[in-house]
Amino acid sequence: MTERLKNHLAGQWQAGTGTGVTLYDPVLGTPLVEVDATGLDLQRGFAFARSQAGPALRAKTYQERGAMLSKIATVLQSHRDRYYEISTANSGTVKNDTAVDVDGGIYTLSTYARLGEQLGARRLLLDGEAAKLGKDPLFQSQHILSPRTGLALFINAFNFPSWGLWEKAAPALLSGVPVVVKPATATAWLTHQMVQDVIAAEILPPGALSIVCGSSAGLLDALTPFDVLSFTGSAQTGALIRSHRAVTEHSVRVNIEADSLNSALLIPGAAEDAETLDLLAKEVSREMTVKSGQKCTAIRRVFVPEALYDKAAQAIGARLQKTTVGNPRNETVRMGSLVSREQYQAVVDGIGRLSAQAELLFDGRTAPLVDADPAVACCVGPVLLGCRDPEGRPLVHDLEVFGPVATLMPYKSLTQVTALIARGQGSLVTSVYGKDPAALAEAATSVAAYHGRVHVISPDVASLQTGHGNVMPQSIHGGPGRAGGGEELGGLRALQFYHQRTALQASTEVLAAL
Ligand code: NAP
Repeated sequence: MTERLKNHLAGQWQAGTGTGVTLYDPVLGTPLVEVDATGLDLQRGFAFARSQAGPALRAKTYQERGAMLSKIATVLQSHRDRYYEISTANSGTVKNDTAVDVDGGIYTLSTYARLGEQLGARRLLLDGEAAKLGKDPLFQSQHILSPRTGLALFINAFNFPSWGLWEKAAPALLSGVPVVVKPATATAWLTHQMVQDVIAAEILPPGALSIVCGSSAGLLDALTPFDVLSFTGSAQTGALIRSHRAVTEHSVRVNIEADSLNSALLIPGAAEDAETLDLLAKEVSREMTVKSGQKCTAIRRVFVPEALYDKAAQAIGARLQKTTVGNPRNETVRMGSLVSREQYQAVVDGIGRLSAQAELLFDGRTAPLVDADPAVACCVGPVLLGCRDPEGRPLVHDLEVFGPVATLMPYKSLTQVTALIARGQGSLVTSVYGKDPAALAEAATSVAAYHGRVHVISPDVASLQTGHGNVMPQSIHGGPGRAGGGEELGGLRALQFYHQRTALQASTEVLAAL
């Protein structure tokens, strides 16, 4: 019998009363744990978070809440080895990939802990300067930010069970808003273990951190007007969430991070430069293979000047060739598996659909898996496709295959490639490669409006740059259009989602008393 993970609601651990869903090891196919959210009193649990944890959190200053985040980071750090084991077992990740999730989460918490320290012993934030409302300067308008009085519900994706929680929870808790997380079922175990460890450490007031594992049924129905909802997942589920009554009738504030056809662009004029081509090839192959391509920020489309199409295909293929795929417990393996049989099938089907509009430039599926049974393990070798007619093949700009897959495309001019990149209908990130600062700046600004982040890689920052797909807490994460239209992180900017902005119109004496 596998262990059934309990849910934590209303400050108590509670088991679901249904049949439960089993989580599996995607490499070995063995059952791990069960989750179940049947029969939970969500309304009561949410009310407890709002009425008990909210006031307790908001009674503290930003500095004190920052100190809590710091303690949470310390607790997580002390259990790190266990998290690595769970991630390998439940997500099929090699150590480097686990680090992106586990250590990335701890780093983000620590960053917000420092920001809390900087905000100091206050309970309210000012937004901008006061502005005169008439000729007499006595009566002015000052915008203030006060913590929302509801809770923050996070509905998360399967690919980042650790970082996906902490990148949202850090700014929420720093703002004084209690958190309820519903991790994606397939990989819920790691989120659950982390929440359990943090609750056991008694750092947060009761109800400040709750977890519901299993079905999402009823979660949105339990939201009320001052709550916020942050969703990460597919555009399809995002659309369902946006049309839910909680959002349409109660104006629950919602942030959506969804699919994205991110690109990499070798800029015009870089054509004869082997160094920048190599930087592009290195980053593309890394982005395709880190977490088996299951990163919302991973490079899916690669644009190079048309004269470089063949060279780029060779350079990327040569790097992908070195990727050993299989059981992440084997030290020689560089890339583990996809998270589930369902994802494996979706990636296989996606490659099939894209192949109808593209040529196969590199096929890592032909190499044998290391220490893994291909009939059981959800492993797919990296696949580089090529499309010589990016104008006439809509699917390459539209189908996000959530695995180790990218499509190389040639272009003729910056104007043309900007239009091609825009056909992704809004993406999280693009990376731009070249040497000439003015040309890089021109290309970066040309595509900026279609992205939440533009990552520029030139030889001088080659060893410093933080990675196309790595989401740094200092920069915003989110993208327009298809990417969900959301915005997270970006240092203190993240706190705005968890605060109400109010224009306070009063005498300068009242405003000074703030
Ligand atoms: P998904 O099916 O949309 O699931 C995401 C989350 O929503 C899961 O927790 C899921 O729970 C829950 N959910 C499913 N149906 C729901 C409903 N009707 N109401 C409320 N919640 C519901 O997405 P996925 O396939 O797991 O995730 C992969 C996608 O996420 C990819 O397309 C990727 O691009 C995107 N993603 C985006 C970002 C970003 O930051 N932009 C990050 C990571 C992933 P269950 O697991 O229990 O079904």
